[in-house]
Amino acid sequence: MITVNTRILKAEFEYFTPNTIKEVLHLLDQYGSDANVIAGGTDLLVRMKNEVISPSHLINIMKISEMSFIKAEEGWLRIGAATKWHEVVEFCAKDRKYTALYEASCSLGKVQVRNMATIGGNLCTASPAADSAPALLVFNSRVKLTSAQGERIINLEDFFKGVNLTAMAPNEIMTEIQIPSINNGMGSAFMKITRVGADISKISCAVALERQGDICASCKIAMGAVAPVPMKIDQANKIVIGKKVDASLVEEMEKKVSEEINPITDIRSTAEYRRKTAAILLKDVFWKAWHRAGGDK
Ligand SMILES: Cc1cc2nc3c(=O)[nH]c(=O)nc-3n(C[C@H](O)[C@H](O)[C@H](O)COP(=O)(O)OP(=O)(O)OC[C@H]3O[C@@H](n4cnc5c(N)ncnc54)[C@H](O)[C@@H]3O)c2cc1C
Repeated sequence: MITVNTRILKAEFEYFTPNTIKEVLHLLDQYGSDANVIAGGTDLLVRMKNEVISPSHLINIMKISEMSFIKAEEGWLRIGAATKWHEVVEFCAKDRKYTALYEASCSLGKVQVRNMATIGGNLCTASPAADSAPALLVFNSRVKLTSAQGERIINLEDFFKGVNLTAMAPNEIMTEIQIPSINNGMGSAFMKITRVGADISKISCAVALERQGDICASCKIAMGAVAPVPMKIDQANKIVIGKKVDASLVEEMEKKVSEEINPITDIRSTAEYRRKTAAILLKDVFWKAWHRAGGDK
């Protein structure tokens, strides 16, 4: 029997700790696809220990202060990609408009993980189960990608290209996440189903909506672990927009979501389970957001 010690990094690599974005970009241009950016390392080191990847150059971005910030300005909430999860939790606990993001942040790992891991790392891993993704998708977030050639901003839904695949070129890094300012009346929620308390999602869901009395004025739904990429649910939400919301309308939405998703069976769950729970999860998350938009806690 071959035993694998997953606690050691076997491959040798050169390690860099630049202080500026410019230095990172220079290193990426120099080493190309032989290099990997490392932030908190909570995803990357697992992949290196399991020998899924073995980069010959590691570029640590955690000393770069210009990549770690949370600022609300000019109609946007801007979050540096190297901002740690515990900082996102602390910010969202104060500014309760971003409830779905707050709930996703609090659910991400345990305190040890949130003290190391970053929001950019969660998105750049491009796991279909990344908890921040549904919460950021329902707020119509964008990401800023930077290379030595310049910057570009793309919608988050266009960033994910497949399991562990993104729209980022090898010489680009994510420098910022941008969330449009949220109206005070918006209600949002995030929930996930896991095997044990602190775990990657079997399935996750976020909803953000606005209401005018009993009418749903706007509604965005996104789900994780139901397709190769975290996805916006664009058909189910159309059922409620502009309508008087009641239990039968939400039931219609539940039926639609199971048709819209494309789940697989993997180590965490089965496609069948995911298809069935998607409807139930959506119902729970929708009503939570609905009551919040109406001023309830
Ligand atoms: C015990 C444990 C529990 C976990 N629980 C959860 C959970 O509940 N929910 C969840 O979603 N995840 C969970 N994770 C996964 C992980 O913690 C998160 O995805 C985390 O946010 C990754 O951030 P990081 O800074 O550690 O990324 P890293 O591991 O440093 O990097 C991840 C990937 O992103 C790339 N990268 C990082 N930052 C950038 C950047 N700015 N620009 C370009 N590329 C970049 C790296 O090259 C690498 O490919 C867990 C992990 C562990 C070990």
